[in-house]
Amino acid sequence: MTNYFKVNNPATGKLISEVRVNTLDEIQQALENGHDSFKKWSKVNAHERSRLLRKWSDKIQEQKEEIAEVMTLENGKPLSESLGEVDYATSYIDWYAEEAKRIYGRTIPAATETKRIIVSREPIGLVAAITPWNFPAAMMTRKAAPALAAGCTFIVKPAEDTPLTTIKLVELAHEVGIPKDAIQYVIGDGKEVGELFTSSEFVRKITFTGSTPVGKALIKNSADTVKHVTMELGGHAPLIIAEDADLDVVVNQTIISKFRNAGQTCVCANRIIVHENVIEEFSAKLAAEVMKLKVGNGLEKDTQIGPVINEKGYTKIVEQIQDAVDKGAEVLVGNEYDANKEKGYFFVYPTVLKNVNEDMKIMQEETFGPVAPLISFKEIEDAVEIANSTPYGLAAYFFTNDYKTGTYLHEHLQFGIVGWNDGAPSGAHVPFGGMKESGIGREGGLEGIEPYLETKYLSIGNL
Ligand code: NAP
Repeated sequence: MTNYFKVNNPATGKLISEVRVNTLDEIQQALENGHDSFKKWSKVNAHERSRLLRKWSDKIQEQKEEIAEVMTLENGKPLSESLGEVDYATSYIDWYAEEAKRIYGRTIPAATETKRIIVSREPIGLVAAITPWNFPAAMMTRKAAPALAAGCTFIVKPAEDTPLTTIKLVELAHEVGIPKDAIQYVIGDGKEVGELFTSSEFVRKITFTGSTPVGKALIKNSADTVKHVTMELGGHAPLIIAEDADLDVVVNQTIISKFRNAGQTCVCANRIIVHENVIEEFSAKLAAEVMKLKVGNGLEKDTQIGPVINEKGYTKIVEQIQDAVDKGAEVLVGNEYDANKEKGYFFVYPTVLKNVNEDMKIMQEETFGPVAPLISFKEIEDAVEIANSTPYGLAAYFFTNDYKTGTYLHEHLQFGIVGWNDGAPSGAHVPFGGMKESGIGREGGLEGIEPYLETKYLSIGNL
């Protein structure tokens, strides 16, 4: 029997499309095809791979408006953010189109006159990717672009909630001439497809963006066939505000970091740690700005906060707010909802909570929603302790104009991405990724192509 995934608009709950689910046999076949096509694609010269990637990027840009609309329909984010994500997604393709031409080897001086040693880099083979719903375009291209640039073939399983953007991007890759089997998508249940990917002898690498529990399962399941893994997992970012910080800058950057994509980003500020002498002033300024944010359907002009993705996400956010309020948190703004279970849409109004403490769930678990909890500190060492007291280590932010405080924070925060007076530090040219249980490996920048390459060394003797 043919199965379909229903794709609904999270702003209205209305059906926007039905996507056919691949059978397990079809997925096996796709893996075999990806493996077979590696023999050819890995031999396409780097300049040609680069040219094809540039054409893919240009094609996506030509259809930017249409792709952004699809993204808003399936994900709910405001159209302006979807347009921004298309640019962000193509920036990875552009970056790795260039890096394709810079995969250098080296020579090593031999220990005898009769030998020569050459080190070369080779693509690792078929790469299988699993991506989340919160950035349906960029989470795919920042894996596909370095994989294809390195000479690997690529297969992706998008999230069930947001498959349409991925399908469109893969179709455009084929349209510009990237071979059909060099980049493919499959549609299916996360667990089932994950098991096929991790157990397949054809797959040499798993790259995943999503939650930490799923990432751990994928790492375990990849062990039997000793696959390479890159894991971009959950986050619980602290944002520290020192006593001397410029509070207007902080308010602006906090809103960018916290409320983009309705707070459904892995790097968004989840724990706002404010010096006790400025918490009154800061919380009043932040609440005043948050109150102005416009909530609504992402397709409507001026919407700044869309719906949350689904009921599961909504329930988690509401429970965290309720738990905090029950334990003494003060609601400065928000804790309001527009949700309809029957129709299937869930809006959480942007919320600011004061008097938060570390016993509250919101300080312990990733939120993934538009809620800013504020906790105070006295000494900078205490702020660092609160910030590091989590198994996560993805992103951290701090605001200070004092170089000694800034240097101390930079050197003591256990996070892979650190923003100093900067709430939006990500980009195609920088290494994005987490420490501790936030992941393994980096995406973007020079580092982002490394995980798709093997090192081979040749020793020539008897010269
Ligand atoms: P998720 O539940 O882990 O889902 C992510 C992807 O994994 C989806 O494609 C999902 O498919 C699939 N999946 C689910 N269960 C699976 C299993 N047992 N085996 C294999 N694949 C499985 O995460 P999410 O709720 O969609 O996304 C939010 C999480 O992603 C957050 O924790 C966030 O911090 C993290 N994230 C991290 C980064 C980063 O760069 N570090 C970036 C963005 C998001 P289905 O949709 O079919 O279930």
